[in-house]
Amino acid sequence: MLFKGSDTYSINSCQTIEMFYNLRTDLDKLLYASHITKIINDVTTENQNSFYILKLFLNTLYAISETDKNLDFLISVFKMRLMKIIGFAPNVSECVSCKSKENLTGFSFKDNGFKCEKCQKQDAGVFGLTEATKNSIIYSTKADSKKIFSFDLSEKSLKEFEIVSRLYLNEKLEKEYNLEKY
Ligand SMILES: [Zn+2]
Repeated sequence: MLFKGSDTYSINSCQTIEMFYNLRTDLDKLLYASHITKIINDVTTENQNSFYILKLFLNTLYAISETDKNLDFLISVFKMRLMKIIGFAPNVSECVSCKSKENLTGFSFKDNGFKCEKCQKQDAGVFGLTEATKNSIIYSTKADSKKIFSFDLSEKSLKEFEIVSRLYLNEKLEKEYNLEKY
């Protein structure tokens, strides 16, 4: 229950709708949930519409708590999707430098998107991509919000996807978000 004061709101009471019970019983799930909560805390500001961020946050918490999906996979999709929502949607349809649609084999953190083989030579901050990782980036940013976690990746591709998502988010938010494993 929110009450509006002269220039601030105060919360008078609240009721739990979904408590994500499994976060309390699994230390790994709790760790990943608190990791994304820290990020959410940094990208939201008071009195600004955060509807899409909230939706992504709740969907991700639900997936962490209630499914057996790989936790690195879940937060990597979360990070890529979040980047899109807050205005850093990567360009995935053409080379960010020369607009070519061929040989898009790298991801440029500086120029926000795919780069062709030729243009990669002039960019030191490019990460090489396999087809599976490319598709993961495309899917995470374009799929319907309820279906963003509905795909699978091999262990090797997941590792690559995890690196790209993590470094892209760190670069754009200008902060090192690293999961501190115990
Ligand atoms: Zn190019």
